[in-house]
Amino acid sequence: MELAFTPEHESFRREVRSWIQEALPADLRAKSEVDANFEMEEVMRWHRILFQRGWVAPHWPAEHGGPGLDPTRRFILTEELELAGTPPLSPFGLGMVGPLLIQFGTPAQKQRFLPKILSGEEVWCQGYSEPNAGSDLASLRTSAVKNGSGKYVVDGQKTWTTYAQYADWIFCLVRTDPKTAPGGAGGGKKQEGISFLLIDLETPGVEVKPMLTLGGTPAFCETFFSGAEVPAENLVGPEGGGWTLAKALLGHERTLIAAVGQSRRVVRRVKRIAAQAAGPGGRPLIDDPRVRGRIAALEIRLRGLQMANYRALAGAQLGKAPGPESSILKLRGSEVLQQAFELAMDIMGPDSLTWFNQPGVVEPFEEWVPSAFCYTRATTIYGGSNEIQKNVLAKYILGLPAR
Ligand SMILES: Cc1cc2nc3c(=O)[nH]c(=O)nc-3n(C[C@H](O)[C@H](O)[C@H](O)COP(=O)(O)OP(=O)(O)OC[C@H]3O[C@@H](n4cnc5c(N)ncnc54)[C@H](O)[C@@H]3O)c2cc1C
Repeated sequence: MELAFTPEHESFRREVRSWIQEALPADLRAKSEVDANFEMEEVMRWHRILFQRGWVAPHWPAEHGGPGLDPTRRFILTEELELAGTPPLSPFGLGMVGPLLIQFGTPAQKQRFLPKILSGEEVWCQGYSEPNAGSDLASLRTSAVKNGSGKYVVDGQKTWTTYAQYADWIFCLVRTDPKTAPGGAGGGKKQEGISFLLIDLETPGVEVKPMLTLGGTPAFCETFFSGAEVPAENLVGPEGGGWTLAKALLGHERTLIAAVGQSRRVVRRVKRIAAQAAGPGGRPLIDDPRVRGRIAALEIRLRGLQMANYRALAGAQLGKAPGPESSILKLRGSEVLQQAFELAMDIMGPDSLTWFNQPGVVEPFEEWVPSAFCYTRATTIYGGSNEIQKNVLAKYILGLPAR
């Protein structure tokens, strides 16, 4: 059963699809067809093309440069981009700090930062996690203390800062009230001493060190601050009010993570791989009932996720903000994506070694799968680990007592 959209929405879907056909440059299309990893330069090139068309920030209101689409059109646009395998845009500006500034920023901050996020002139990254503050984010220790000239002096370390090596700015959670620091003598709730600060990565005293991921991509970094001076006007919201902003931003992040279009595309590719891979007696594996059963089970889970996403969409169409249900989308979306790659790896069997070995040892075959398989191990960790999402669901949806 396909869900029925209105004729206007179906016509919008056709418009998006044919625009992508024309607008996606040939070299990016070639990469999308073999699902190769996109370089940052390619991602930003596609960002600028979408910006020119006015579709780079489907969720932004028209007054701030968004396309003014209703929730269903936004969903369709996002889904069509994912289905076509276009370069995934960096979410930190468009999906996180941008919407946050629209909600909580001063007029001067909106004017200064929003246009450059939209145009792609300035790239952002997220500085929340620290070596001892991941799930327990409120235990963060990076400090920001005002000096005599009214600037914040930032000291500490952030970790897992995705794309910091390509970014111009980082939005950070910092501790402005040392009395609330974990283990500190001052007492006070640790959430209350946290503030939300925008930091130019060119500031003296900021150092970014990239790290390789398991998938072989230089996706993230450690970011160090040592006496970095940040103007007070870069504080968003009130001093000590950062926790409220942090939670609002995580809500945005979790709804972005469901990636239904991406999973649909991967399942399609899994079928293609199964049709190419030889099974017992030389017949394609897609004819094997066990493989067919696993593909069917995956498609059923994907369809469940799609329906949950449509339910959230219907709520959004009625003007409801995403609530704890976004944790369901994050949980299921990340699991389905991982399961799709697990199945692809099982079907490929020894052929998956093509990526791990030296070139020439094994014939090239769907080389992108092992790299993507390794990277997607992270989907159940980032954006708040799945165990934490289960805690959220237990507390806010099932009403179970917190432990
Ligand atoms: C690919 C990737 C990109 C990332 N990008 C960024 C980024 O750009 N910026 C940024 O700030 N952070 C980023 N992160 C960090 C991410 O948000 C954290 O990894 C995540 O919040 C988990 O924190 P942790 O790694 O410290 O694990 P921990 O919090 O130490 O958790 C370890 C394990 O214990 C479990 N656990 C912890 N507490 C509980 C609990 N209360 N109940 C049940 N189980 C629990 C967790 O689920 C997990 O399995 C990224 C992470 C990854 C993997």
